[in-house]
Amino acid sequence: AAEKLSAYRGLPARTADGTTVELAVNVGMPEEMREGIAEEADGVGLFRTEFLFMHADGFPDEEDQFRVYRGMVEQWNGKPVVIRTLDIGGDKELSYWDLPHEDNPFLGMRAIRLCLHERELFKTQLRAIIRASAFGCVKIMFPMVSSMQEFREAKALALQAMQELKAAGIAYDEKLELGIMAEIPSVIQLADRFAKEVDFFSIGTNDLVQYTLAVDRMNEKVAHLYDYFHPAVLRSIRSLIDAAHREGKRVGMCGSMAGDPLAAPLLLAMGLDEWSMDAASVAKQKFALSRLHAEECRALLERAIDSDTAAEVRGQAKDFYETKF
Ligand code: PEP
Ligand code: MG
Repeated sequence: AAEKLSAYRGLPARTADGTTVELAVNVGMPEEMREGIAEEADGVGLFRTEFLFMHADGFPDEEDQFRVYRGMVEQWNGKPVVIRTLDIGGDKELSYWDLPHEDNPFLGMRAIRLCLHERELFKTQLRAIIRASAFGCVKIMFPMVSSMQEFREAKALALQAMQELKAAGIAYDEKLELGIMAEIPSVIQLADRFAKEVDFFSIGTNDLVQYTLAVDRMNEKVAHLYDYFHPAVLRSIRSLIDAAHREGKRVGMCGSMAGDPLAAPLLLAMGLDEWSMDAASVAKQKFALSRLHAEECRALLERAIDSDTAAEVRGQAKDFYETKF
């Protein structure tokens, strides 16, 4: 079976009835990228830049960051690379930055909140990413956005950085897209409004599950309650995709649900535009997709959305999977 799976690596992600799926990868440190992955996948759906900061002894400056982002973008030869701005705080700390203790770090000063508070740090990163856009297809993604205000402020800083670069005669892609992670329930509720202003969304199921179900993603005591097959999560994902599509905006997913073969029929039926997963999941997800037909996936989704509990949905997804493999 392992041999069979690896045969799927180099193939495009295509369903049994011929729908092609855009399948991207999540990347932590660029040097960890597997040989050949840039041929196997359609791009990078999530570049987690915090690792660049976590593996350093101090804040990487604009040149250090630019070198890494540019190298990454060049490796992908024009395929899209979504670079997420710093998502620090919560579970991710920096040894050289002593942030004040918080009782509820996951509800505290993290990610975009911290970046909007430390604007010089944020601007430096934005300039480095924007400069890298001259060397391929770069998109910028803001993490943990919970309000339109935050997106507008972040966008204003990105535009400011572009103007500064332009004035200095430094090249960048003027059509560079600015999107957000959809990982906080307020974004789901306001999706129609966000969809008018952002260029794209990417669903972060790791956090969306945590915040929708009020279940700490790191706490083993409540791990049994943490499940993206919860109908409330499925309804959230579906409503976000529908709202985005009404405005002609694309939706990706970079949380771990995107790489789960059990979830594939549901995501396919919802019309997810870009699936981004760890490189290790690519072959098995391509294989799962190759067995799917749209019509039966839609039927499974209708049942799932209409269910009461995560356990029911998980059972349905497992039964479906077993009939296919
Ligand atoms: C997510 O929340 O699903 C996500 C992809 O981001 P992270 O796991 O880095 O919080
Ligand atoms: Mg997240």
